[in-house]
Amino acid sequence: MLHEFTGNDRIAYFSMEIALEHDIPTYAGGLGVLAGDTLRSAADLALPLVGVTLVSRAGYFQQKIDSIGRQIELADTWEPSTRAEFMAAKVAVQIERRTVWVGAWLYRVKGLSGVQVPVLLLDTDLPENNLEDREITHHLYGKDAAYRLKQEIVLGVGGIRMLQALGFNIHKHHMNEGHSALLALELLNRYSYQIRDLRPGESLYDAPIVRSKCIFTTHTPVEAGQDQFEYDMVERIADSEFMDLQEVRKLAGEDRFNMTRLALNLSDHVNGVAKRHAEVSQAMFPDYKIYAITNGVHPHTWTNEFFATLFDNAIPSWRHEPEQLVRIDQVPEQALWAAHTSAKQQLMDRIKKTTGQVLDAALPTLGFARRMTAYKRPDLIFSDIERLRNIARKRPFQLVMAGKAHPSDEGGKHLIEQIHLHIKELADDLPIVYLPGYDMQLALDLVSGVDVWLNTPLRPLEASGTSGMKAAFNGVPSLSVLDGWWLEGCIENVTGWAVGNAAQGDEENDILDLYHKLENVVLPMYYDDRSNWINLMRGAIGKNAAVFNTHRMIRRYATEAYML
Ligand SMILES: *Cc1c(COP(=O)(O)O)cnc(C)c1O
Repeated sequence: MLHEFTGNDRIAYFSMEIALEHDIPTYAGGLGVLAGDTLRSAADLALPLVGVTLVSRAGYFQQKIDSIGRQIELADTWEPSTRAEFMAAKVAVQIERRTVWVGAWLYRVKGLSGVQVPVLLLDTDLPENNLEDREITHHLYGKDAAYRLKQEIVLGVGGIRMLQALGFNIHKHHMNEGHSALLALELLNRYSYQIRDLRPGESLYDAPIVRSKCIFTTHTPVEAGQDQFEYDMVERIADSEFMDLQEVRKLAGEDRFNMTRLALNLSDHVNGVAKRHAEVSQAMFPDYKIYAITNGVHPHTWTNEFFATLFDNAIPSWRHEPEQLVRIDQVPEQALWAAHTSAKQQLMDRIKKTTGQVLDAALPTLGFARRMTAYKRPDLIFSDIERLRNIARKRPFQLVMAGKAHPSDEGGKHLIEQIHLHIKELADDLPIVYLPGYDMQLALDLVSGVDVWLNTPLRPLEASGTSGMKAAFNGVPSLSVLDGWWLEGCIENVTGWAVGNAAQGDEENDILDLYHKLENVVLPMYYDDRSNWINLMRGAIGKNAAVFNTHRMIRRYATEAYML
């Protein structure tokens, strides 16, 4: 059954989450969407990848929000047999000194010209396993650290064994974030660099075969955000066979078992996801060379039907060669504005249908949607309610928001409640809608249906950010703090606007500048200078979407990492 995929060498792309389709809940946010977009571009460009992830039968969670802004978390289960084929292979891993069997589902990512990229969804919910072990692959980012470690054993170790059992020939292993770093220990085992075989004075750092087969993309700009485990937990849970913990400490860190360290030590190519992020990571890890490959988004997935039709007519090769979007200059104003108006109306219709709230399609509309967590500062725009009220009284506008908080992120949940208070406070002057259940579908509706995409993270914590890139594919300019990709994408008044300055993250200054730009630049241009506004839409498409897409990104991985 797999012969179509096993005849040639492939790059195995490992990710804890992969957004395959909007309603398959194997993703939580940006990392998973990036993984999905990467595989979609690989399929479009006929690059031989194979994705490896967990089946996450119980998903991340479904979000409801009650009338005072409290997040309600419901299970988001799915049935893999409806979208994937069960594979006739089983592999075993050791967890808590028990044998845990791992099966796999095959999902096919289909490219534009019919090329397919296989994705393996690892599943421990098999009759051979005890009830506890059957749940290991149920909850994406669920439960506690021990549960996470078990998942990472299944992903890293189980993933490598499954690829082999199915007959894949893998010449590179790409770790999308550190969750899958145990795969490198499994490779050390396989290539006989057994830790127990080391002679005195010999180091695992002399494991060139393994390093030459591993690529690591880091996504976390702070040490605290890295995946780490206490060694006594590692000892209790992880396979005693390959875990000579004294030696492993040299690779994964002396105090705690740090997945980022492990991946850094066993990868020949390491990169951050934007130029600034690579610099920040380089300063954090001066002993390693960290390159920059800036993220992107998948063209076809993130372009609303109205813009897709417009591009198909004006720039027919855009799906394969999104760099051709530079030619958007040739598209007449009315055509651009008509596509945007249709997308905006579609969003307003969706809002009316799902919430009963009626927004005015004639008003300038700001969008803000992302994971609700402190560093994203979703409340920055509410810092001075009276100032905001006055801006809206002078030139009316409206705001649409969405985002989930991780179930254990109390700060994030509190932010959602605070925002709901502000919505009430501002009700007479500034219509604000908060839509529950942020997923890929809602993301596309939002990034294409608003006029301005707002982003106000705390520098330098936005490693890349990708939703602004999605907006760009729909001619929507960003108003954003200069962090992550926006440092590379922002051309003031051409692709959007900067909030604050690039050098330092002074919150007070960010707030003042946000209000200043909104009041004196963004809203006046929308109301008084439509022609210039449409030029801005052209800038977003021709200068951002043309560059910040996963076609460009994966070609860079191919030439700078996969072909090494
Ligand atoms: C694109 C996307 C994200 C990531 O957006 P950022 O700008 O990186 O925060 C998160 N969640 C969903 C559902 C998305 O589509």
